[in-house]
Amino acid sequence: MADTEEKTQGQLLSEQLSFKIKNVWETAGEKELAEAGDFAVEYKRFLDLGKTERECTGLCCEALEKAGFVPLEDRLDSGGALQPGDRVYRNLRDKALLCAIIGERPVEEGFTIVGAHLDSPRIDLKTNPLYEDSGFALFDTHYYGGIKHYQWTAIPLAMHGVVIGRDGQKKNICVGEKDGDPVFTISDLLPHLAQEQMEKKAGEFFSGEELDILAGSRPYRDGKVEEKVKLSVLEILNQTCGMTEEDFASAEIEFVPAFKAQDVGLDRSMIGAYGHDDRSCAYAAFRALLRFASCAGAPGKTIVCFLSDKEEVGSMGNTGAESRALENFLAYLGRLTRGPGFSTSDLRRALEKSSMLSADVNAAYDPNFASVYDKKTASWFGRGMALSKYTGRRGKLGGSEANAEFCHRVQAILDKNGVRWQYGNLGRVDKGGGGTIALYAANLGIDVLDCGIPVLSMHSPFEVISKIDLYTTFRGYIAFLKDA
Ligand code: MN
Ligand code: MN
Repeated sequence: MADTEEKTQGQLLSEQLSFKIKNVWETAGEKELAEAGDFAVEYKRFLDLGKTERECTGLCCEALEKAGFVPLEDRLDSGGALQPGDRVYRNLRDKALLCAIIGERPVEEGFTIVGAHLDSPRIDLKTNPLYEDSGFALFDTHYYGGIKHYQWTAIPLAMHGVVIGRDGQKKNICVGEKDGDPVFTISDLLPHLAQEQMEKKAGEFFSGEELDILAGSRPYRDGKVEEKVKLSVLEILNQTCGMTEEDFASAEIEFVPAFKAQDVGLDRSMIGAYGHDDRSCAYAAFRALLRFASCAGAPGKTIVCFLSDKEEVGSMGNTGAESRALENFLAYLGRLTRGPGFSTSDLRRALEKSSMLSADVNAAYDPNFASVYDKKTASWFGRGMALSKYTGRRGKLGGSEANAEFCHRVQAILDKNGVRWQYGNLGRVDKGGGGTIALYAANLGIDVLDCGIPVLSMHSPFEVISKIDLYTTFRGYIAFLKDA
Protein backbone atom coordinates (compact mmCIF):
# COMPACT_ATOMS: atom_id res chain seq x y z
CA MET A 1 0.00 0.00 0.00
CA ALA A 2 1.38 3.36 -1.06
CA ASP A 3 0.41 5.31 2.06
CA THR A 4 2.24 2.97 4.42
CA GLU A 5 5.40 3.16 2.36
CA GLU A 6 8.11 5.37 3.75
CA LYS A 7 8.67 8.59 1.86
CA THR A 8 11.83 8.86 -0.17
CA GLN A 9 14.45 11.46 0.62
CA GLY A 10 13.50 13.36 -2.52
CA GLN A 11 9.81 13.40 -1.55
CA LEU A 12 10.63 14.69 1.91
CA LEU A 13 12.94 17.36 0.50
CA SER A 14 10.30 18.43 -2.00
CA GLU A 15 7.71 18.79 0.78
CA GLN A 16 10.17 20.86 2.75
CA LEU A 17 11.34 23.20 0.00
CA SER A 18 8.57 23.59 -2.57
CA PHE A 19 5.61 25.96 -2.31
CA LYS A 20 2.38 24.29 -3.40
CA ILE A 21 -0.75 26.37 -3.81
CA LYS A 22 -3.91 24.37 -3.17
CA ASN A 23 -7.49 24.90 -4.25
CA VAL A 24 -9.51 26.31 -1.34
CA TRP A 25 -12.65 24.41 -2.40
CA GLU A 26 -10.70 21.21 -1.62
CA THR A 27 -9.06 22.32 1.62
CA ALA A 28 -11.72 24.45 3.40
CA GLY A 29 -13.81 22.99 6.21
CA GLU A 30 -17.59 22.53 6.00
CA LYS A 31 -18.24 25.60 8.17
CA GLU A 32 -16.06 27.80 5.99
CA LEU A 33 -17.78 26.55 2.83
CA ALA A 34 -21.22 27.31 4.30
CA GLU A 35 -20.10 30.79 5.39
CA ALA A 36 -18.70 31.43 1.91
CA GLY A 37 -22.13 30.59 0.45
CA ASP A 38 -23.92 32.98 2.82
CA PHE A 39 -21.39 35.73 2.16
CA ALA A 40 -21.95 35.39 -1.59
CA VAL A 41 -25.71 35.84 -1.15
CA GLU A 42 -25.18 39.06 0.85
CA TYR A 43 -22.62 40.32 -1.69
CA LYS A 44 -24.97 39.74 -4.63
CA ARG A 45 -27.64 41.78 -2.83
CA PHE A 46 -25.12 44.60 -2.34
CA LEU A 47 -24.26 44.54 -6.07
CA ASP A 48 -27.92 44.64 -7.11
CA LEU A 49 -28.63 47.64 -4.88
CA GLY A 50 -25.33 49.44 -5.53
CA LYS A 51 -24.60 49.94 -9.21
CA THR A 52 -22.91 53.33 -8.95
CA GLU A 53 -20.34 54.79 -6.58
CA ARG A 54 -23.09 56.97 -5.08
CA GLU A 55 -25.44 54.06 -4.44
CA CYS A 56 -22.62 52.00 -2.88
CA THR A 57 -21.61 54.94 -0.67
CA GLY A 58 -25.22 55.30 0.45
CA LEU A 59 -25.51 51.59 1.31
CA CYS A 60 -22.25 51.66 3.28
CA CYS A 61 -23.16 54.83 5.22
CA GLU A 62 -26.50 53.25 6.15
CA ALA A 63 -24.70 50.14 7.46
CA LEU A 64 -22.21 52.32 9.37
CA GLU A 65 -24.97 54.29 11.11
CA LYS A 66 -26.60 51.00 12.13
CA ALA A 67 -23.28 49.78 13.53
CA GLY A 68 -22.89 52.86 15.73
CA PHE A 69 -20.49 54.90 13.60
CA VAL A 70 -20.88 58.68 13.85
CA PRO A 71 -19.88 61.32 11.28
CA LEU A 72 -16.37 62.62 11.95
CA GLU A 73 -17.69 66.14 11.23
CA ASP A 74 -19.84 65.98 14.40
CA ARG A 75 -16.75 65.38 16.54
CA LEU A 76 -14.71 68.04 14.75
CA ASP A 77 -17.48 70.62 15.17
CA SER A 78 -18.07 69.83 18.84
CA GLY A 79 -14.35 69.71 19.60
CA GLY A 80 -14.93 66.35 21.31
CA ALA A 81 -12.24 63.73 21.78
CA LEU A 82 -12.19 60.16 20.50
CA GLN A 83 -11.57 57.17 22.77
CA PRO A 84 -10.48 53.59 21.99
CA GLY A 85 -13.44 51.70 20.56
CA ASP A 86 -15.09 54.83 19.10
CA ARG A 87 -16.34 54.53 15.53
CA VAL A 88 -16.31 57.38 13.05
CA TYR A 89 -16.83 57.81 9.32
CA ARG A 90 -16.64 60.45 6.67
CA ASN A 91 -18.92 60.58 3.66
CA LEU A 92 -16.90 62.18 0.83
CA ARG A 93 -19.47 64.04 -1.28
CA ASP A 94 -21.72 60.96 -1.45
CA LYS A 95 -19.23 59.25 -3.78
CA ALA A 96 -16.55 57.79 -1.52
CA LEU A 97 -16.06 57.18 2.17
CA LEU A 98 -13.64 56.62 5.00
CA CYS A 99 -14.42 54.87 8.26
CA ALA A 100 -12.40 53.92 11.32
CA ILE A 101 -12.49 52.22 14.71
CA ILE A 102 -10.13 53.83 17.22
CA GLY A 103 -7.57 51.39 18.64
CA GLU A 104 -6.06 51.00 22.11
CA ARG A 105 -2.60 52.01 20.94
CA PRO A 106 -1.68 55.65 20.15
CA VAL A 107 -1.92 56.58 16.46
CA GLU A 108 1.82 57.45 16.45
CA GLU A 109 2.31 53.67 16.24
CA GLY A 110 0.57 53.72 12.86
CA PHE A 111 -2.81 53.00 11.30
CA THR A 112 -3.89 49.72 9.72
CA ILE A 113 -5.77 50.44 6.51
CA VAL A 114 -7.63 48.53 3.80
CA GLY A 115 -8.44 50.62 0.71
CA ALA A 116 -10.55 49.79 -2.35
CA HIS A 117 -12.58 51.65 -4.97
CA LEU A 118 -16.33 51.90 -5.55
CA ASP A 119 -16.40 53.22 -9.13
CA SER A 120 -16.66 50.83 -12.08
CA PRO A 121 -16.42 51.32 -15.85
CA ARG A 122 -19.71 52.49 -17.36
CA ILE A 123 -21.35 54.79 -19.92
CA ASP A 124 -21.91 58.40 -18.79
CA LEU A 125 -24.17 60.94 -20.48
CA LYS A 126 -22.66 64.02 -22.08
CA THR A 127 -23.71 67.41 -20.70
CA ASN A 128 -26.13 68.07 -23.60
CA PRO A 129 -27.04 64.51 -24.48
CA LEU A 130 -30.59 64.32 -25.79
CA TYR A 131 -31.13 64.60 -29.55
CA GLU A 132 -33.49 63.38 -32.23
CA ASP A 133 -32.45 61.60 -35.40
CA SER A 134 -34.56 59.65 -37.91
CA GLY A 135 -37.50 59.17 -35.61
CA PHE A 136 -35.43 58.15 -32.59
CA ALA A 137 -34.59 60.08 -29.44
CA LEU A 138 -31.01 59.23 -28.47
CA PHE A 139 -28.64 59.97 -25.60
CA ASP A 140 -25.13 61.04 -26.56
CA THR A 141 -22.54 59.53 -24.21
CA HIS A 142 -18.94 59.60 -23.04
CA TYR A 143 -17.77 56.29 -21.61
CA TYR A 144 -16.03 56.15 -18.21
CA GLY A 145 -12.99 53.94 -17.62
CA GLY A 146 -11.25 51.41 -19.83
CA ILE A 147 -13.95 49.54 -21.71
CA LYS A 148 -14.03 47.49 -24.90
CA HIS A 149 -16.71 49.57 -26.63
CA TYR A 150 -18.33 46.70 -28.51
CA GLN A 151 -19.10 44.78 -25.28
CA TRP A 152 -21.58 47.46 -24.21
CA THR A 153 -23.83 47.24 -27.29
CA ALA A 154 -26.97 45.13 -27.68
CA ILE A 155 -27.40 44.53 -23.95
CA PRO A 156 -30.05 45.98 -21.59
CA LEU A 157 -28.84 49.09 -19.76
CA ALA A 158 -30.26 50.89 -16.74
CA MET A 159 -30.16 54.62 -16.05
CA HIS A 160 -28.83 55.73 -12.66
CA GLY A 161 -27.77 59.08 -11.29
CA VAL A 162 -28.63 62.37 -9.73
CA VAL A 163 -30.18 65.46 -11.24
CA ILE A 164 -30.62 68.86 -9.63
CA GLY A 165 -33.65 70.79 -10.81
CA ARG A 166 -34.15 74.56 -11.20
CA ASP A 167 -35.45 74.67 -7.63
CA GLY A 168 -32.15 73.23 -6.35
CA GLN A 169 -33.79 69.96 -5.35
CA LYS A 170 -31.58 66.90 -5.85
CA LYS A 171 -33.35 63.83 -7.23
CA ASN A 172 -32.05 60.31 -7.59
CA ILE A 173 -32.73 58.57 -10.88
CA CYS A 174 -33.00 54.80 -11.23
CA VAL A 175 -34.78 53.38 -14.28
CA GLY A 176 -34.37 49.81 -15.50
CA GLU A 177 -33.81 47.90 -12.26
CA LYS A 178 -37.33 47.12 -11.02
CA ASP A 179 -39.50 44.44 -12.58
CA GLY A 180 -41.58 46.07 -15.28
CA ASP A 181 -39.21 49.04 -15.74
CA PRO A 182 -38.19 49.96 -19.27
CA VAL A 183 -34.49 49.50 -20.11
CA PHE A 184 -32.17 51.13 -22.62
CA THR A 185 -29.73 49.80 -25.19
CA ILE A 186 -27.05 50.72 -27.71
CA SER A 187 -27.89 49.21 -31.10
CA ASP A 188 -25.39 47.16 -33.08
CA LEU A 189 -25.26 46.45 -36.80
CA LEU A 190 -26.84 43.27 -38.18
CA PRO A 191 -24.26 40.74 -39.49
CA HIS A 192 -25.87 40.87 -42.95
CA LEU A 193 -24.66 44.45 -43.43
CA ALA A 194 -21.55 44.31 -41.25
CA GLN A 195 -19.03 43.31 -43.91
CA GLU A 196 -17.04 46.57 -43.59
CA GLN A 197 -17.45 46.73 -39.81
CA MET A 198 -16.13 43.19 -39.36
CA GLU A 199 -12.98 44.01 -41.32
CA LYS A 200 -12.06 46.76 -38.86
CA LYS A 201 -9.89 46.13 -35.81
CA ALA A 202 -11.89 45.38 -32.63
CA GLY A 203 -10.72 48.66 -31.09
CA GLU A 204 -12.13 50.61 -34.03
CA PHE A 205 -15.37 49.01 -35.08
CA PHE A 206 -17.31 50.83 -32.39
CA SER A 207 -15.94 54.29 -31.77
CA GLY A 208 -16.58 56.03 -28.45
CA GLU A 209 -18.76 58.55 -30.28
CA GLU A 210 -20.98 55.78 -31.67
CA LEU A 211 -22.10 54.55 -28.25
CA ASP A 212 -25.40 56.42 -28.29
CA ILE A 213 -28.31 55.05 -26.33
CA LEU A 214 -31.90 54.56 -27.56
CA ALA A 215 -34.20 56.74 -25.43
CA GLY A 216 -37.49 56.72 -27.35
CA SER A 217 -39.31 56.56 -30.69
CA ARG A 218 -42.83 57.88 -30.13
CA PRO A 219 -43.57 61.43 -31.33
CA TYR A 220 -45.48 63.98 -29.27
CA ARG A 221 -48.88 64.43 -30.91
CA ASP A 222 -48.78 68.07 -31.98
CA GLY A 223 -48.30 69.10 -35.61
CA LYS A 224 -46.86 72.47 -34.64
CA VAL A 225 -43.72 71.41 -32.76
CA GLU A 226 -40.31 70.27 -34.01
CA GLU A 227 -38.41 67.23 -32.72
CA LYS A 228 -41.51 65.53 -31.42
CA VAL A 229 -39.83 62.32 -30.21
CA LYS A 230 -37.29 64.27 -28.20
CA LEU A 231 -40.10 66.39 -26.74
CA SER A 232 -42.03 63.39 -25.52
CA VAL A 233 -38.88 61.99 -23.83
CA LEU A 234 -38.33 65.40 -22.20
CA GLU A 235 -41.93 65.38 -21.02
CA ILE A 236 -41.48 61.97 -19.34
CA LEU A 237 -38.22 63.10 -17.69
CA ASN A 238 -39.99 66.20 -16.42
CA GLN A 239 -42.92 64.22 -15.04
CA THR A 240 -40.75 61.57 -13.37
CA CYS A 241 -37.65 63.52 -12.29
CA GLY A 242 -38.84 67.11 -12.45
CA MET A 243 -36.00 67.97 -14.82
CA THR A 244 -35.67 70.07 -17.97
CA GLU A 245 -33.11 69.84 -20.77
CA GLU A 246 -30.91 72.46 -19.09
CA ASP A 247 -30.47 70.22 -16.03
CA PHE A 248 -28.44 67.66 -17.98
CA ALA A 249 -25.54 70.15 -17.87
CA SER A 250 -24.98 69.55 -14.14
CA ALA A 251 -26.48 66.08 -13.75
CA GLU A 252 -24.49 62.89 -13.21
CA ILE A 253 -26.27 60.19 -15.20
CA GLU A 254 -24.64 56.81 -15.64
CA PHE A 255 -25.77 53.84 -17.73
CA VAL A 256 -24.89 50.41 -16.35
CA PRO A 257 -25.94 46.84 -17.23
CA ALA A 258 -29.56 46.30 -16.20
CA PHE A 259 -29.13 42.65 -15.21
CA LYS A 260 -28.67 41.34 -11.68
CA ALA A 261 -25.80 39.39 -10.11
CA GLN A 262 -26.21 35.65 -10.72
CA ASP A 263 -24.57 32.37 -9.88
CA VAL A 264 -22.48 31.00 -12.73
CA GLY A 265 -21.84 27.31 -13.44
CA LEU A 266 -23.83 24.17 -12.67
CA ASP A 267 -21.95 23.95 -9.37
CA ARG A 268 -22.81 27.61 -8.59
CA SER A 269 -19.18 28.18 -7.64
CA MET A 270 -18.94 31.56 -9.38
CA ILE A 271 -20.77 34.89 -9.46
CA GLY A 272 -21.36 36.80 -12.68
CA ALA A 273 -22.21 40.48 -12.30
CA TYR A 274 -21.50 44.05 -13.28
CA GLY A 275 -19.00 45.83 -11.02
CA HIS A 276 -16.85 43.13 -9.35
CA ASP A 277 -14.01 45.59 -10.12
CA ASP A 278 -13.79 46.76 -7.48
CA ARG A 279 -16.95 46.24 -5.45
CA SER A 280 -15.95 42.67 -4.62
CA CYS A 281 -12.86 43.91 -2.77
CA ALA A 282 -14.63 47.04 -1.48
CA TYR A 283 -17.42 44.91 -0.02
CA ALA A 284 -14.97 42.39 1.48
CA ALA A 285 -12.88 45.22 3.00
CA PHE A 286 -15.91 47.05 4.34
CA ARG A 287 -17.43 43.91 5.87
CA ALA A 288 -14.04 43.08 7.40
CA LEU A 289 -13.95 46.43 9.20
CA LEU A 290 -17.59 46.05 10.30
CA ARG A 291 -16.66 42.71 11.86
CA PHE A 292 -14.59 44.64 14.44
CA ALA A 293 -17.57 46.88 15.22
CA SER A 294 -19.51 43.84 16.39
CA CYS A 295 -16.72 42.78 18.79
CA ALA A 296 -16.51 44.07 22.33
CA GLY A 297 -13.51 46.29 23.05
CA ALA A 298 -11.18 48.18 20.73
CA PRO A 299 -8.68 46.87 18.16
CA GLY A 300 -4.94 47.21 18.89
CA LYS A 301 -4.06 49.85 16.33
CA THR A 302 -6.64 52.19 14.83
CA ILE A 303 -8.18 50.43 11.82
CA VAL A 304 -9.40 52.26 8.73
CA CYS A 305 -11.34 51.39 5.58
CA PHE A 306 -11.06 53.74 2.56
CA LEU A 307 -13.53 53.26 -0.30
CA SER A 308 -12.48 55.68 -3.02
CA ASP A 309 -13.95 56.94 -6.28
CA LYS A 310 -12.40 57.72 -9.69
CA GLU A 311 -9.89 54.82 -9.68
CA GLU A 312 -10.99 53.79 -13.16
CA VAL A 313 -10.00 57.19 -14.54
CA GLY A 314 -6.72 57.62 -12.65
CA SER A 315 -7.83 58.36 -9.05
CA MET A 316 -7.80 62.14 -9.63
CA GLY A 317 -10.30 64.57 -8.12
CA ASN A 318 -11.43 65.27 -4.58
CA THR A 319 -13.12 61.89 -4.18
CA GLY A 320 -10.19 59.95 -5.66
CA ALA A 321 -7.26 58.33 -3.87
CA GLU A 322 -4.76 60.84 -5.24
CA SER A 323 -6.51 63.57 -3.21
CA ARG A 324 -5.73 64.45 0.40
CA ALA A 325 -8.86 62.67 1.63
CA LEU A 326 -7.07 59.78 3.36
CA GLU A 327 -4.29 61.97 4.77
CA ASN A 328 -6.79 64.53 6.11
CA PHE A 329 -8.92 61.82 7.70
CA LEU A 330 -5.91 60.34 9.49
CA ALA A 331 -4.78 63.83 10.59
CA TYR A 332 -8.21 64.48 12.12
CA LEU A 333 -8.11 61.10 13.88
CA GLY A 334 -4.71 62.07 15.28
CA ARG A 335 -5.95 65.37 16.63
CA LEU A 336 -9.15 63.94 18.06
CA THR A 337 -7.36 61.09 19.83
CA ARG A 338 -4.14 62.87 20.89
CA GLY A 339 -5.38 66.42 21.42
CA PRO A 340 -4.57 69.77 19.78
CA GLY A 341 -0.83 69.14 20.33
CA PHE A 342 -0.86 66.48 17.57
CA SER A 343 1.50 68.05 15.01
CA THR A 344 2.20 67.62 11.31
CA SER A 345 5.38 65.75 12.15
CA ASP A 346 3.39 63.45 14.46
CA LEU A 347 1.15 62.72 11.47
CA ARG A 348 4.18 62.03 9.21
CA ARG A 349 5.54 59.58 11.78
CA ALA A 350 2.17 57.88 12.06
CA LEU A 351 1.94 57.56 8.26
CA GLU A 352 5.42 56.05 8.01
CA LYS A 353 4.46 53.41 10.56
CA SER A 354 1.15 52.62 8.87
CA SER A 355 0.31 49.51 6.86
CA MET A 356 -2.22 49.18 4.09
CA LEU A 357 -3.69 46.60 1.79
CA SER A 358 -4.67 48.07 -1.57
CA ALA A 359 -7.72 45.89 -2.19
CA ASP A 360 -8.33 45.55 -5.90
CA VAL A 361 -9.25 42.78 -8.28
CA ASN A 362 -6.71 40.79 -10.24
CA ALA A 363 -6.79 39.35 -13.78
CA ALA A 364 -7.57 35.66 -13.28
CA TYR A 365 -5.90 33.10 -15.52
CA ASP A 366 -8.19 32.49 -18.48
CA PRO A 367 -7.61 29.28 -20.50
CA ASN A 368 -9.33 30.96 -23.47
CA PHE A 369 -6.50 33.48 -23.63
CA ALA A 370 -3.52 31.50 -22.36
CA SER A 371 -0.95 33.38 -24.45
CA VAL A 372 -1.13 36.62 -22.45
CA TYR A 373 -0.74 35.03 -19.00
CA ASP A 374 2.23 33.62 -17.11
CA LYS A 375 0.76 30.52 -15.49
CA LYS A 376 3.33 30.58 -12.68
CA THR A 377 2.50 34.05 -11.37
CA ALA A 378 -1.10 34.56 -12.55
CA SER A 379 -3.97 34.33 -10.08
CA TRP A 380 -6.31 31.34 -10.46
CA PHE A 381 -9.96 30.83 -9.56
CA GLY A 382 -10.36 28.94 -6.29
CA ARG A 383 -6.87 29.50 -4.94
CA GLY A 384 -7.71 32.32 -2.53
CA MET A 385 -6.51 35.87 -2.07
CA ALA A 386 -4.15 37.09 -4.81
CA LEU A 387 -1.10 39.09 -3.69
CA SER A 388 0.42 41.44 -6.29
CA LYS A 389 3.88 42.42 -5.14
CA TYR A 390 4.05 44.95 -7.94
CA THR A 391 1.87 46.58 -10.60
CA GLY A 392 2.79 48.73 -13.62
CA ARG A 393 3.66 47.89 -17.22
CA ARG A 394 6.70 47.33 -19.43
CA GLY A 395 9.49 47.26 -16.90
CA LYS A 396 7.16 47.89 -13.91
CA LEU A 397 6.65 51.48 -15.11
CA GLY A 398 4.15 53.62 -13.24
CA GLY A 399 3.19 51.03 -10.66
CA SER A 400 3.83 50.44 -6.99
CA GLU A 401 6.02 47.66 -5.56
CA ALA A 402 5.84 46.47 -1.99
CA ASN A 403 9.15 45.80 -0.26
CA ALA A 404 10.24 42.30 0.73
CA GLU A 405 9.80 42.96 4.45
CA PHE A 406 6.21 44.12 4.14
CA CYS A 407 5.25 41.30 1.73
CA HIS A 408 6.71 38.81 4.18
CA ARG A 409 4.77 40.37 7.04
CA VAL A 410 1.47 40.13 5.17
CA GLN A 411 2.15 36.53 4.07
CA ALA A 412 2.98 35.60 7.69
CA ILE A 413 -0.27 37.16 8.95
CA LEU A 414 -2.30 35.24 6.35
CA ASP A 415 -0.50 31.96 7.13
CA LYS A 416 -1.01 32.44 10.86
CA ASN A 417 -4.74 32.93 10.34
CA GLY A 418 -5.12 30.04 7.90
CA VAL A 419 -5.97 32.29 4.95
CA ARG A 420 -4.98 30.77 1.60
CA TRP A 421 -3.11 33.15 -0.69
CA GLN A 422 -1.64 32.95 -4.17
CA TYR A 423 0.36 35.07 -6.59
CA GLY A 424 -1.41 37.77 -8.57
CA ASN A 425 0.66 39.30 -11.30
CA LEU A 426 -0.99 40.90 -14.30
CA GLY A 427 -0.10 38.98 -17.45
CA ARG A 428 3.11 38.18 -19.25
CA VAL A 429 5.90 40.73 -19.36
CA ASP A 430 5.24 43.44 -21.98
CA LYS A 431 1.68 42.25 -22.71
CA GLY A 432 0.10 45.26 -21.01
CA GLY A 433 -0.40 46.24 -17.39
CA GLY A 434 -2.30 48.40 -14.98
CA GLY A 435 -2.29 50.26 -11.70
CA THR A 436 -4.32 50.68 -8.52
CA ILE A 437 -4.58 53.16 -5.65
CA ALA A 438 -1.48 51.66 -3.96
CA LEU A 439 1.01 54.26 -5.18
CA TYR A 440 -0.94 57.16 -3.66
CA ALA A 441 -0.77 55.58 -0.21
CA ALA A 442 2.89 54.66 -0.76
CA ASN A 443 3.61 58.34 -1.55
CA LEU A 444 2.47 59.19 2.00
CA GLY A 445 5.08 56.83 3.43
CA ILE A 446 2.63 54.00 4.12
CA ASP A 447 3.72 50.40 3.50
CA VAL A 448 1.21 49.05 0.99
CA LEU A 449 0.60 45.78 -0.85
CA ASP A 450 -1.90 45.15 -3.63
CA CYS A 451 -4.12 42.15 -3.07
CA GLY A 452 -7.58 41.03 -4.00
CA ILE A 453 -9.90 38.76 -5.89
CA PRO A 454 -9.17 37.15 -9.29
CA VAL A 455 -11.75 38.17 -11.93
CA LEU A 456 -12.55 37.00 -15.46
CA SER A 457 -13.80 39.38 -18.18
CA MET A 458 -12.63 42.41 -16.19
CA HIS A 459 -14.24 45.74 -17.22
CA SER A 460 -16.92 43.93 -19.25
CA PRO A 461 -20.62 44.30 -18.39
CA PHE A 462 -20.59 40.78 -16.86
CA GLU A 463 -17.46 40.06 -14.84
CA VAL A 464 -16.99 36.70 -13.08
CA ILE A 465 -15.37 35.82 -9.73
CA SER A 466 -15.17 32.69 -7.56
CA LYS A 467 -17.25 32.61 -4.38
CA ILE A 468 -14.46 30.97 -2.42
CA ASP A 469 -11.93 33.64 -3.44
CA LEU A 470 -14.38 36.35 -2.33
CA TYR A 471 -14.78 34.76 1.09
CA THR A 472 -11.08 33.92 1.51
CA THR A 473 -10.17 37.52 0.68
CA PHE A 474 -12.70 38.80 3.22
CA ARG A 475 -11.01 36.57 5.82
CA GLY A 476 -7.63 37.90 4.69
CA TYR A 477 -8.68 41.50 5.28
CA ILE A 478 -9.96 40.61 8.76
CA ALA A 479 -6.62 38.93 9.58
CA PHE A 480 -4.68 41.97 8.37
CA LEU A 481 -6.81 44.48 10.32
CA LYS A 482 -6.39 42.35 13.44
CA ASP A 483 -2.67 41.59 13.26
CA ALA A 484 -0.84 44.18 11.13
MN1 MN B 1 -9.87 48.07 -9.86
MN1 MN C 1 -10.52 48.50 -13.15
